[in-house]
Amino acid sequence: MGMFNRLRLPGSARCASCGSDVDRWVQFKYGELDLYSYDIGDALAWRGDQYDEGVPGMAHVYIFAIAEPCRACGFEPEVDEYDIELRKDVVYGVSASAYSIDYDMEGWVVVQE
Ligand SMILES: [Zn+2]
Repeated sequence: MGMFNRLRLPGSARCASCGSDVDRWVQFKYGELDLYSYDIGDALAWRGDQYDEGVPGMAHVYIFAIAEPCRACGFEPEVDEYDIELRKDVVYGVSASAYSIDYDMEGWVVVQE
């Protein structure tokens, strides 16, 4: 059983170091934690027991995420913290962290139930 899930960053994903056009991913902990690979628009899976992270079905949630290093060269970007926006368990968006969201210790926050 994995410890986190992954979300593919949309749009241009060229590595700032080696220029490789590889997919970039961020890691987060919400839903069933089993190394799921999600894209924007996907609904998160839930296991339905104590191994889930978070609360299913919430209207609006933000999740802290951290970028994986470039898979081609291992470069770790300077901006590596992201905010994932979730609406009704569907991944609504992801953006570089604005450091304006007050996450609790678990790394997510329900802003609207
Ligand atoms: Zn690279």
